[in-house]
Amino acid sequence: MAEREKYLLDESRIPKAWYNINADMPVPTPPVLHPGTMEPVTPDFLGVLFPMNIVMQEVTSERWVEIPEPVREIYRLWRPTPMCRALRLEKDLDTPAHIYYKNESVSPVGSHKPNTAVAQAFYNKEAGTKALVTETGAGQWGSALAMACSFFGLDLEVFMVKVSYHQKPYRRIIMENFGAQVFASPTERTHFGKQVLEEDPDSQGSLGIAISEAVEVAATSGGKKKYSLGSVLGHVMMHQTVIGLEALEQMEMAGEYPDVVIACAGGGSNFAGFAFPFVHRNLTEGKKTRIVAVEPASCPTLTKGRYTFDYGDAAAMAPIVKMYTLGHTFMPPGIHAGGLRYHGMAPTVSALLANGDIEARSARQLETFEAAVRFSKAEGIIPAPESAHAIRAAIDEALVCKKTGEKKVIAFNLSGHGHFDMTAYQSYHHGLLEDFEYPDHAVEEAMTHLPQVPGAESKAALIVR
Ligand SMILES: *Cc1c(COP(=O)(O)O)cnc(C)c1O
Repeated sequence: MAEREKYLLDESRIPKAWYNINADMPVPTPPVLHPGTMEPVTPDFLGVLFPMNIVMQEVTSERWVEIPEPVREIYRLWRPTPMCRALRLEKDLDTPAHIYYKNESVSPVGSHKPNTAVAQAFYNKEAGTKALVTETGAGQWGSALAMACSFFGLDLEVFMVKVSYHQKPYRRIIMENFGAQVFASPTERTHFGKQVLEEDPDSQGSLGIAISEAVEVAATSGGKKKYSLGSVLGHVMMHQTVIGLEALEQMEMAGEYPDVVIACAGGGSNFAGFAFPFVHRNLTEGKKTRIVAVEPASCPTLTKGRYTFDYGDAAAMAPIVKMYTLGHTFMPPGIHAGGLRYHGMAPTVSALLANGDIEARSARQLETFEAAVRFSKAEGIIPAPESAHAIRAAIDEALVCKKTGEKKVIAFNLSGHGHFDMTAYQSYHHGLLEDFEYPDHAVEEAMTHLPQVPGAESKAALIVR
């Protein structure tokens, strides 16, 4: 078979249904607990934050969930995305391995995030929601949701982590261009924001703090505003599976099947989106593809965190879920992969790791940027620093093949481009970036603040659907 650079699908091949891994989970994903009572939440509780059609998606165990036509219509603006063979990178590495990447950077805002933003805006519109409120770290999620809200005529308030608000003005301007209101979090607009500022007037914010502010605004809006989350939750993982479903078809076009599937993991959504359709094949067809999540050594949720019940946010107001966590009090160091700085991880991704169905590894900042630059010189695309973690792992796998002579097929997800991360690249080229490994004692300390969930073990065995 002639070697091709890219595998493109026709618009008609945009998936018609999302894949819901809840239908095939080999282990139970424990129930979501109320942050106050620590008992399993009712749909009514989640209904304060999310419209009922999204709550129902969160709890369904239907394997295939139909993608509404208006959502597919918008997906057509950039989907199906290309699956590329990194032939020039292979040559540069002098590896017998075949390296493929799914290119999610071609979306209008440059990442995979619109796959769920468009779906969430659609369901909110259907449910009669007028305004959404959310948080954003580096601005990727905020810009995706701002675009989606403008498509469906919804208002949007965004709490943007203060350090990014000042360091990444262009992402803020993208959000404003789409009509969103953007605030530097912590703000004076919420009780929690005020409390943080009283304790530390110079607080630069964190994703956990911004989540707390956004949740507070939605929860106290008397039903007028709904909250939207760009990762972690089950419906988000599900919306992202269009990535992997397309990739399965594209690998078939290429006449190969991956031995290793790799994606970076912050809250887990691009990883789940790319990998879950391959996990499905492992679980139901006896395939043996290795599935690898890659995270920064400075925010080592999967590789150093604990699999336990913890709050989803810093203020302990969001629901408690069982996940790998560094503790909700985790204060991330100022690394440049802003999208990978969350203290927790999607419960489905966490459960699969705990059960041995997937693997996790970490990458240090310098080796990650080295991989990013090498990839860009070979393939021409400057990756998001987040995505570069996946590239690092793919290159390392290919280098092992070079030693062993194995002709493995490696597929990774390029979750986004790095065009708004040039200050990070500049720091790297000027030798100003440093490696930072999150210390074990800091993890131990944070574990002392975990919620004490009564009957945690029996709750963990419950399956609530
Ligand atoms: C947000 C983001 C991530 C991390 O989020 P996940 O939910 O783990 O996918 C990774 N890459 C890019 C480009 C992002 O914008």
